[in-house]
Amino acid sequence: MTIIKRSRRRTAGRIFFPPCLAAAILLGGAGCGREADPSSDAPRFQPDRTARVEYVIDGDTVIVEGDESIRFLGIDTPEIRKWTPDGWRGRDEPWGRDAGNYLHQFIGDREVGLIYDGERTDFYGRTLAYLTIDDILVNARLLREGYATYMDMGKPLKYGDYLRRAEAEARAAARGLWSERRGSFRPPDYYVAGRDGKLFHRQTCGTVDNIHEDNRLRVRREAARELGLEPCSRCLPE
Ligand SMILES: [Zn+2]
Repeated sequence: MTIIKRSRRRTAGRIFFPPCLAAAILLGGAGCGREADPSSDAPRFQPDRTARVEYVIDGDTVIVEGDESIRFLGIDTPEIRKWTPDGWRGRDEPWGRDAGNYLHQFIGDREVGLIYDGERTDFYGRTLAYLTIDDILVNARLLREGYATYMDMGKPLKYGDYLRRAEAEARAAARGLWSERRGSFRPPDYYVAGRDGKLFHRQTCGTVDNIHEDNRLRVRREAARELGLEPCSRCLPE
């Protein structure tokens, strides 16, 4: 619950560390030219309804207003360890947090369009939908950036071809989970400190794993300084 948490940016405005800028910096320049999905082969996306994103669970599941879970159609993203009523469950898979972070930067706290395709709910009662934002099909964007794999559960999807092309593009360009890297990208908009600690760390610092989730603070650099925290000598959060 450290990275992907209920955003409190409602009034402060959206993030704006543009995801592709972050990716370009941290992933060594994966192109920013893909900001808009190619209009040439993009279908027109007409949402069935809209909803405000309240919480990003992981790369393919979000909670929208009214406590409604939305499971993205047509994609699957790597797992992340999650807090559930029964405690922590699951484990982080490579690129899982990257996918969740990317999604959070992209749609966290924003109004999105929802498009249905066949069955509206799954076995767990989650709403099945495509998400759109600014005329972009978010499901396809996740595939194109290499944060997800195509998955249709054996049923034809109305955007199946479009999604498969997006996945093929990521695979051809060895992006994200198609690359050799195991995924370490986390947005650099904050650092991590232990609640009673004296140091602040990069989110990727191994020391962070030793800080209990409940005791992890997200701090911006300025806040870290104001709190009198020292930069960790191991991860050098500069
Ligand atoms: Zn550190």
